[in-house]
Amino acid sequence: MAAAGAAAITLAPVSFASAAGGSSGSASGGATPPSGTQVTKTVTGHLDTGAADFVYLPVEIPQGVQKISVAYAYDKPGVPAGTPGNSCDIGVFDQRGTKLDGQGFRGWSGGFRTSFEISNSEATPGYLPGPVSAGTWNIVLGPYQVAPQGMNYRVTVTLTYGEPGPRFVPDYPPQRAKGRGRAWYRGDCHLHTVYSDGKRLPSEVAAGARAAGLDFMVSTDHNTTSSHGVWGQYAGQDLLIITGEEITTRNGHWLALGLPAGDWIDWRYRSRDDAFDRFARKVHRAGGLVVPAHPYCPYVACQWKFGYDSADAVEVWNGPWTYDDESAVDTWDAKLGEAVRSGGPWLPAMGNSDAHSEPQVIGLPHNVVLAEDLATDSLMDGIRAGRNWIAESSAVELTFTVTGGGRQAGIGERLTLPADAPVDVRLDVAGVPNGTVRFITDEGQMHQESLPASGSGTVVWRTTTSLAAYVRAEVRHPMADGTPGKGNTMGPALVWGPMAALTNPVFLVPAKG
Ligand SMILES: [Zn+2]
Ligand SMILES: [Zn+2]
Repeated sequence: MAAAGAAAITLAPVSFASAAGGSSGSASGGATPPSGTQVTKTVTGHLDTGAADFVYLPVEIPQGVQKISVAYAYDKPGVPAGTPGNSCDIGVFDQRGTKLDGQGFRGWSGGFRTSFEISNSEATPGYLPGPVSAGTWNIVLGPYQVAPQGMNYRVTVTLTYGEPGPRFVPDYPPQRAKGRGRAWYRGDCHLHTVYSDGKRLPSEVAAGARAAGLDFMVSTDHNTTSSHGVWGQYAGQDLLIITGEEITTRNGHWLALGLPAGDWIDWRYRSRDDAFDRFARKVHRAGGLVVPAHPYCPYVACQWKFGYDSADAVEVWNGPWTYDDESAVDTWDAKLGEAVRSGGPWLPAMGNSDAHSEPQVIGLPHNVVLAEDLATDSLMDGIRAGRNWIAESSAVELTFTVTGGGRQAGIGERLTLPADAPVDVRLDVAGVPNGTVRFITDEGQMHQESLPASGSGTVVWRTTTSLAAYVRAEVRHPMADGTPGKGNTMGPALVWGPMAALTNPVFLVPAKG
């Protein structure tokens, strides 16, 4: 295994080379068995607590195989509350090898499936159809939680002999749809399907995106690009479908957005390994975006530990509003202050649903991006520039501007004016009944105002470039008891209702001299 990658071990190989005519086959000797012959081998073993992140099971594939089928199972002994029980992922690399960032990747299903098949013509979702070539393949087990008793596993490999079927032809989605020129476009950039651990078919996700009033969506299945080749038939002039991947490591998840169809990004490393930056560069070279996802999600291996130096944006709002999103917004807001201090680039915020299955809502939340056109490169430019606000649904509309000295700047932009010149901050919002509008600067919340029951209103506040280095807006729902948020107070309970909309900042810069 490549030195740069995560800890791994390799088991003793399973060989079919001299086993034709074994358990269920009818052939004998070294000759290729007749078409349709199936040969099965089963491997059992035990992994102790402290097993490597990835366990490779080499499988020696002979000539003349048209399909590989793999099934696996492991025991789940009882564990005390608070102790993780057994959980094991699975995937496979072909004869081109398991080298980090190599060519051998053939699929991953995480812990979602107990079996998969690959042939030249088709494959189980999550896996890449193509030749089942002779050589050493590697089934990769990812025991991401191992009980104190250890994990007993069983892997069954079945080879079917015969001529390969016709080659699978991928149907990639186009990179452009019929837009409205330079406009604000709505899109959910973090969505799962049955191609990883979602229960929705691609057709259902595309229908859900349309129903949510979205102009675009990004497909981000965990650790595999196998869905890229099926999106073409579900895209249309009314819905741009962008290809991506959710790179799911043991030290957090990140989105590669706008990844060229078919490009795969490796996930076999931790923060301590010298690998993440290399893959971030790979995504950047391809024109894509690197976006740490749900940085404070409490699930095992889901918290972000790679820092933000290589990030183009951060997902501060993931699915229905929860306390970990508050933490992400706080971290992001602090990074805005750091950018002001250093004069370096600032980190834009994003929000996505991460919807996997019913009843998770596609588009809750989504991004509203100012782009030159409804096209992949234009939208990536808009997100990278922070010309983006986040809405819980397409029922929420919002315009946020700052005006001074006869000039105006919008979300993600900057306004340079003499330090004491008045700057008017204005938010027009609709769709948040009894909501609370907050204006937040590098000093914290500087203005709060409630919206009427109609949900529509305009909030105006005056500042200067000397008083505020940036200003951003939040629109919150009322708290559970119906009252507005508690402004600049502190207490044992959360002081804010759920987020309804969140803008990226406008930067205010005092003119020199
Ligand atoms: Zn994730
Ligand atoms: Zn996800």
